[in-house]
Amino acid sequence: MNIQNYINGQFENPSSKSWIDNYNPSNGEVYGQIPNSSKEDVEQAYQSARSAFPSWSQTTLEERSRILIKISELLEANLDRFAEAESKDNGKPVSLAKMVDIPRAASNFRFFGNAITQFASESHESVGQNAVNYTLRQPIGVVGCISPWNLPLYLFTWKIAPAIAAGNCVVAKPSEVTPMTAYLLGEICNEAGLPKGVLNIVHGLGTTTGQAIVEHPNIKAISFTGGTATGAHIAKVAAPMFKKLSLELGGKNPNIIFADCDYDDMLNTTLRSSFANQGQICLCGSRIFVEETIYNKFKTDFVNKVKDLKVGHPSEKDTNIGALVSKPHLEKVKSYIEIAKEEGATVLFGGNEVSVEGYENGYYLQPTVIEVKTDDCRVNQEEIFGPVVTIMPFKTEDDVLEMANKVKYGLSATLWTNNLKRTMRMSNQLQAGIVWVNTWMMRDLRTPFGGVKASGVGREGGFEALRFFTEPKNVCIKY
Ligand code: NAD
Repeated sequence: MNIQNYINGQFENPSSKSWIDNYNPSNGEVYGQIPNSSKEDVEQAYQSARSAFPSWSQTTLEERSRILIKISELLEANLDRFAEAESKDNGKPVSLAKMVDIPRAASNFRFFGNAITQFASESHESVGQNAVNYTLRQPIGVVGCISPWNLPLYLFTWKIAPAIAAGNCVVAKPSEVTPMTAYLLGEICNEAGLPKGVLNIVHGLGTTTGQAIVEHPNIKAISFTGGTATGAHIAKVAAPMFKKLSLELGGKNPNIIFADCDYDDMLNTTLRSSFANQGQICLCGSRIFVEETIYNKFKTDFVNKVKDLKVGHPSEKDTNIGALVSKPHLEKVKSYIEIAKEEGATVLFGGNEVSVEGYENGYYLQPTVIEVKTDDCRVNQEEIFGPVVTIMPFKTEDDVLEMANKVKYGLSATLWTNNLKRTMRMSNQLQAGIVWVNTWMMRDLRTPFGGVKASGVGREGGFEALRFFTEPKNVCIKY
């Protein structure tokens, strides 16, 4: 099936006539092609967005809200179709796409459809000076949204929904590795009555299409989620043009387990935080630190649970772990398992590719648990982004805090303890944008979302996102 760009409400082939193969990770086969859109295609998308902007930015909040909520309802009504498409494109279990990816994409539109009706700005009375200030929050104009392959529609809509809710028009690019649900979203937007040109979706490689969006002189803000190296490159291109930038980048998140935690809850959640979505979630807790008094028990229990996870075809109901997203990514993850061995670590379980009957060319890998002796090794410092976790014991709170903070990243951290004072101390000191205590990936869409250090700049979520997608203008009136 060939995918087309969605520009000005129409589906179009790229003017470049250049196409990229689209792979199905569950069997390694090419099942369609996607445009590799050129600078000219991006320009066409920009022109369409620019033309739509005067009217959309003046559309009442109630009307914008109504359309966003309609998109949300249509996504819910098409849950099965979208979940199956997401799974085929990405390799994730259909059950996961049905439970997490597509419902969350629908929630993104519903949430920002509601949030925009509650978004307010400030006024300041300059007491004693007969003046009052009020602050307008105006849409920026045409903005660019670029997203990765791990949670394709979920992260794509997490940017688009606040951008259009705030009155902007968008040129958006999903990952070239997982373009399908973004393509299908165009149909839903038309059906929901989103005016032509408010959202334009261009497909293609980062280095061609993505780069053209970032370099475009009149696309005034870029909201990007992806790898840290790409984020650094985008920052370099966008900074001299003074674009507003939101960068959500990589992570190497600690999962810190104290002996006083609720053990069973911790164990079950740790299984999820390690391997959900084949470990390809930026929030996965890939470095597990366990207090030494329960280390051996944890090691045995955890490995036993991991052994029970079923690696299988994404459409099988009992599959826990589907296929990794692509052949190059599978090779990258496998290379880290080799690096771990070379560094003297012990593979406690996994480490090998899995041949799934009937789908022998799919990109399947066992969930892998590696015991490391030191936190300084590469597998504990570099982002692997696959079904691979490391475990090691720690003695004291200070020791584990130091190790948790020693990486270049700072996206999220998970803490398992029932000690209130320790919770407060550690939550304050962990270098991360998000700290979960006795839970993982529990999300309230009103909260700020994002990382520190090499995990990015800026925050998404709630009013933070609406602030990002608007320009404040202060008006001072003397009376
Ligand atoms: P990536 O950086 O390779 O690609 C992300 C997107 O950027 C894709 O759409 C790609 O085409 C585009 N891109 C690539 N080069 C570009 C360029 N020069 N200009 C403009 N766009 C360009 O990342 P990926 O491999 O798709 O995703 C995995 C990474 O994303 C991991 O590092 C993961 O941690 C990160 N991630 C972060 C978050 C978060 O919220 N912080 C969420 C999910 C994933």
